[in-house]
Amino acid sequence: MRTLLKKYFYHSLLIINVFLFLLLKDTIYLAYLTPILLLSSLFVIIFAEKKYPKILKWGEVKKDIKLDVFYTLVSGIGVGHITKITISGLLIWLGEKLSKILDFSLFPHSINIFFQILFYLLIVEFFSYWLHRLSHNQKKLWLFHEIHHSPNKMWSLNVSRSHPIDILYRLILPLMIVFFLGIKEDVLSLYLVITGVVSFLQHSNLELETKRLNYFFATPILHHWHHSSEKNKAQNNFGHVLIIYDLIFGTYYLPNINEQECKDVGVKNSKVPKDFIDQLKYPFKEINKL
Ligand SMILES: [Zn+2]
Repeated sequence: MRTLLKKYFYHSLLIINVFLFLLLKDTIYLAYLTPILLLSSLFVIIFAEKKYPKILKWGEVKKDIKLDVFYTLVSGIGVGHITKITISGLLIWLGEKLSKILDFSLFPHSINIFFQILFYLLIVEFFSYWLHRLSHNQKKLWLFHEIHHSPNKMWSLNVSRSHPIDILYRLILPLMIVFFLGIKEDVLSLYLVITGVVSFLQHSNLELETKRLNYFFATPILHHWHHSSEKNKAQNNFGHVLIIYDLIFGTYYLPNINEQECKDVGVKNSKVPKDFIDQLKYPFKEINKL
């Protein structure tokens, strides 16, 4: 079973989600369908992590659950998902109005939905790559992003372990792009499903074989290296969904097969406190000391 999971889980979960989305998009309201698919995928991944963890000590999550649930509610669902759905809904509507007035749209609505998503991804990922890279190299931004890197284990639920300001900072630009391109709601919803599942898998404590996909997607193995406790290794693999910009701009990192697993994650000598409220205050306190 572990071998089957290793070989097929990553691809299968993504394909099943895309298939279910396309099957149900006309029968279930998109604002419900997206969170239903994401939550179901998260439960499946958590179940798989419990049964077949990649690293046993990362599976000891009892102490982390409270903090990760808080972050999932506040940063993941609250600031992240609700902002995406409500504001992007408004921006889609405004974008459609604008393209009707101008009688022109920059977005290729007539092509296949997968190419529409690829088109959107290539644009959004360019900006998210540089924003992410900047948040590692700019001290003030790093203090917010450090919260996300502070856990010393990877598991699917700590994907939302991000300061709300860090989430907002990285959301504004993609949302602006939604508006200016005049993207349609179903394309954006499928994009949210794909990015959500990719993010859960990236953080999961699962051994997943992704082979050639490592040169197209920001796969778990690449993203685990981005969370490495060795700073020079963590300064790589900034891509959120695609890895193309890391390949282009020289920040792609995948060591050879013999030392391929990253087992030590977190931030060495980090001053990030343990408590949720203290973590929210942490960047502001540290900025005052700069
Ligand atoms: Zn990062």
